[in-house]
Amino acid sequence: MSIAANFETIRQKIRKAERSAGRKEGSVTLVAVTKKQERAALADAIACGQRVFGENRVQEAIEHWTDFKSLHPDILLHLIGPLQTNKVKEAVSLFDCIETLDREKLAVALKEEMNRQNRLLPCFIQVNTGEEEQKAGIAPQNLPAFHNFCVNDCGLTVTGLMCIPPVNEPAGLHFALLARCARRLNLPHLSMGMSADYLKAIPLGATHVRVGTALFGSRD
Ligand SMILES: *Cc1c(COP(=O)(O)O)cnc(C)c1O
Repeated sequence: MSIAANFETIRQKIRKAERSAGRKEGSVTLVAVTKKQERAALADAIACGQRVFGENRVQEAIEHWTDFKSLHPDILLHLIGPLQTNKVKEAVSLFDCIETLDREKLAVALKEEMNRQNRLLPCFIQVNTGEEEQKAGIAPQNLPAFHNFCVNDCGLTVTGLMCIPPVNEPAGLHFALLARCARRLNLPHLSMGMSADYLKAIPLGATHVRVGTALFGSRD
């Protein structure tokens, strides 16, 4: 299948899932994940009208997107991978949304850099819904305090939550948990669902689905 055909199919599936969930058309944003893809694939996606993209590494994102973003200023880039504080400067200047806010030190560094660059980017807090040792994110029970720290102590604009469910558990349970957390904090955005499970995430309230391989094929 061509990338254009994949976009067509996935957009239709998203629209159908919105309808069957009784959600407004266009309430789910497709974040096209371009990590480890070739420039030609990025160009194809842009030609399909896609404007929201996800990358999980700062350096690769700079290589992928610096030129395309100056050609297409309406492109929005989401950071969906872990952010080290020594990359905050480059991240704030390139990205339009940070989905992986996951610790106090990063919150402080982000706010300082956003002030310096006068770029107040929206952030999502990454939640470690499965409380996995090796995975980034705030444990659900620590989320209210961390959210309070980000918003009230740092002055960050937190608009949503993001999660990556454990591989061997039903994703729906984690999506539902993330949605409950967002409701409690009154946060409008939920980034959840990838190629394998984005259609499960939509009835549970996803506003952003992060899809890579289903659009572009495998990454190896
Ligand atoms: C790579 C990645 C995705 C996309 O995964 P696919 O299975 O290729 O759709 C989504 N979210 C994050 C955080 C990723 O790193």
